[in-house]
Amino acid sequence: MSELHSFTGLFRRFRAFMLRRDVKVTGQCKMCGECCHDILLRHKKRWLKKERHFEELCREEPDHQRFSITGRDEFGHLVFACSLQDKSGLCSCHADRLPLCRNYPPKSLYYQGGWLRPDCGYSFKAVTFRDIFMRRKRMRIPKFADVLQQEQERTEQSRLP
Ligand code: SF4
Ligand code: SF4
Repeated sequence: MSELHSFTGLFRRFRAFMLRRDVKVTGQCKMCGECCHDILLRHKKRWLKKERHFEELCREEPDHQRFSITGRDEFGHLVFACSLQDKSGLCSCHADRLPLCRNYPPKSLYYQGGWLRPDCGYSFKAVTFRDIFMRRKRMRIPKFADVLQQEQERTEQSRLP
């Protein structure tokens, strides 16, 4: 990810921590299939930039052989398309899709500074400092147990591919 993504992700994590408000994923899938190409993949906590890292991922998790490299983005990340997308853009193995697809869009994408396509049926909804200052939302008194649980969940999410 770029420095901008890193900074944005850091700010989002900081804000969620300070306001004790986790981001929410709202909306629903419109089945447009736009997220089944131009995909970036992650393995061992790194975004794939090298073909040998993708080969390593495929050796460890053969289900990923459905992806093929189509190019690179402006930051040097490998870009993939899925071979299981049918001609109409729908998933031909919907019942058997990967956790990566099943859990899309993950909150970890938001906390890593990523964005959703503007035409995606989902969106991230976060409470902002402005919401608090304008009294649109109440400030929450932090509970240590809640923060701990949130951090554990985030750690679990970051382990997902
Ligand atoms: S881009 Fe969004 S709306 Fe389209 S298929 Fe993917 S998750 Fe669904
Ligand atoms: S497995 Fe299905 S949902 Fe996942 S990227 Fe491929 S076509 Fe899309």
